[in-house]
Amino acid sequence: MNDILPGAVARWQQIERTARELFALYGYREVRTPVVEPYALFARGVGEATDIVNKEMYVFEDKGEEKLALRPEGTAGTVRAYIEHGAHVDGPQKWFYIGPMFRRERPQKGRYRQFHQIGVESFGVAEPAMDVEQVAMLDDLFRRLGVVPALELNSVGDAVCRPAYLAELREYLARNAAGLCDDCRDRTGKNPLRVLDCKVEGCQPILASAPRLVDRLCEGCRGHFEAVEKGLDDLGVKYRLNPRLVRGLDYYVRTAFEFTSDALGSQSAVAGGGRYDGLVETLGGPPTPGIGFALGEERLALILEASGRPAPEDRPEVFFVTVDDAGRREALRRAAELRRAGIPCDLDARGGKAKAQFKQAERVGARYAVVLGQSEAESGQAKLKDMQSREEALLDLSGLAARLRPSPRG
Ligand code: ATP
Ligand code: MG
Repeated sequence: MNDILPGAVARWQQIERTARELFALYGYREVRTPVVEPYALFARGVGEATDIVNKEMYVFEDKGEEKLALRPEGTAGTVRAYIEHGAHVDGPQKWFYIGPMFRRERPQKGRYRQFHQIGVESFGVAEPAMDVEQVAMLDDLFRRLGVVPALELNSVGDAVCRPAYLAELREYLARNAAGLCDDCRDRTGKNPLRVLDCKVEGCQPILASAPRLVDRLCEGCRGHFEAVEKGLDDLGVKYRLNPRLVRGLDYYVRTAFEFTSDALGSQSAVAGGGRYDGLVETLGGPPTPGIGFALGEERLALILEASGRPAPEDRPEVFFVTVDDAGRREALRRAAELRRAGIPCDLDARGGKAKAQFKQAERVGARYAVVLGQSEAESGQAKLKDMQSREEALLDLSGLAARLRPSPRG
């Protein structure tokens, strides 16, 4: 679990601000749900056989009441809230959330025990147009941030075509068990789709020739998948078909997608999502189609770091350097004036040596420094010093706000 200190937080704010602005353009509205939910919600919603529920969840007793868990993902809780508040009566809904998730994994680069996701859920629309819009929105988010992770797309079928495929896959894996790792052998019975996702080198030849679900989709799933592909083509969203892409959670049907980046090393996925048409019903709500994704903020921050783009930071426009009591009083008045005008500025309330104050102005990245003392306070004029170029200009203090408009945020 990490502390995110003020020096790193600009990146997070950039990511979240960009997401909020973009999601609003698509009609997604924010929902905030608790970080603790009943254990049973995840067991039912995410699936008891999944690694997430099975191995990675923080579960605890609440003084003899039902078992609770720290949320390992956001969809189950969001769906619970959707059902609990009868949100379906208002027609299709598009919601998003931002917040911490918890998984008891082995910590490594890009994998933490408390991490943060930005996720969206669209309820009530089964049509492929929604899949297209949502995937394109996520693609749009990356573009706005100036990075281009690769999109991988697959269909994981549905209750019509998947059972027969699973039987075929299980049979194939059992037949080739000798060439698979222990994990794969173990999963063959419990969760054979997950075997396709195995990263162990030795398993690859067998997995590469495994039967492919995309070749065995029922008519409904095939039509849906083709419509998604066409829709993405229409919008110019590039993707690669990955027949072995599955998701770690049980509830997905049809569309599954993931964005990956080389900048992340072995933890290559930055975001993943898919359709979950049966989930709302499974958790006790009315039959409601849905689709969503979740994006890992830590991993996105790593990608942005690797791309070398500096995060836009809040820096003071002006730092007042004061040389006496009259200067300090003047500085407080002028700072109040600038702040009212929306211009970030600061001063060293301790006063002290001018040299030390200039040093502080540099540390906080101020664009200008203004030296104030008795004579400046009396004349109403002071020198504006550019901290980069070191150039100085004399100006009327009353014109300071007008001279320094608020800096545009990146
Ligand atoms: P992975 O295959 O890397 O374990 P996942 O399939 O478990 O990912 P999801 O449940 O789809 O991940 O979560 C969506 C996103 O959340 C991931 O793409 C990743 O960016 C992020 N994420 C998941 N687990 C962690 C973690 N332990 N630490 C940091 N980010 C994570
Ligand atoms: Mg995982």
